Amino acid sequence: MKRLRISGIVNDSIVDGPGLRFTIFTQGCPHHCPGCHNPQTHPLKGGKKISIKKLYKKIKENGLLCGVTFSGGEPFLQAKTLLPLAKKLREDGIEIAAYTGFLFEELLNGKVPEGKELLSQLDVLIDGKFVQKLKSLDLAFKGSSNQRTIDVQKSLEKGKAVLSKDPRWNKN
Ligand code: SF4
Repeated sequence: MKRLRISGIVNDSIVDGPGLRFTIFTQGCPHHCPGCHNPQTHPLKGGKKISIKKLYKKIKENGLLCGVTFSGGEPFLQAKTLLPLAKKLREDGIEIAAYTGFLFEELLNGKVPEGKELLSQLDVLIDGKFVQKLKSLDLAFKGSSNQRTIDVQKSLEKGKAVLSKDPRWNKN
């Protein structure tokens, strides 16, 4: 059975995307952005493991969700494990968003194993490292102004990053 290494989960987040969201904080991050709010998620061997089956069950138990968000840590380090979960959620019509310290272009070009496959299951990607000097509290659902809120399906269609125009993701 596939098991994901996580730092934690929140089943009623209102800060990781629009509406009520189930957020999975994956464990392990190679980016080490100065000023990161979740330094406890950096060690690759920290956190705890949870089966994908159990995570899926927990998500489905909450009937009020507007979406699921993969956060971290760096979710794309565990793209292979997240992939079957993302596929199932997509089949169920649940909006899936992910945060990443990688750039969309890097994921598209195969920098991370299975990264492109995971990308193909997402609706929204917030990409790029957190940059302290570009930090702003006015940004919707992201920490610094270099980070992009990307419409993943449109971007894959065009072969380049297309910013989301969804007002739910852009409201301040
Ligand atoms: S990518 Fe995210 S979790 Fe990783 S160091 Fe940067 S801000 Fe922290």
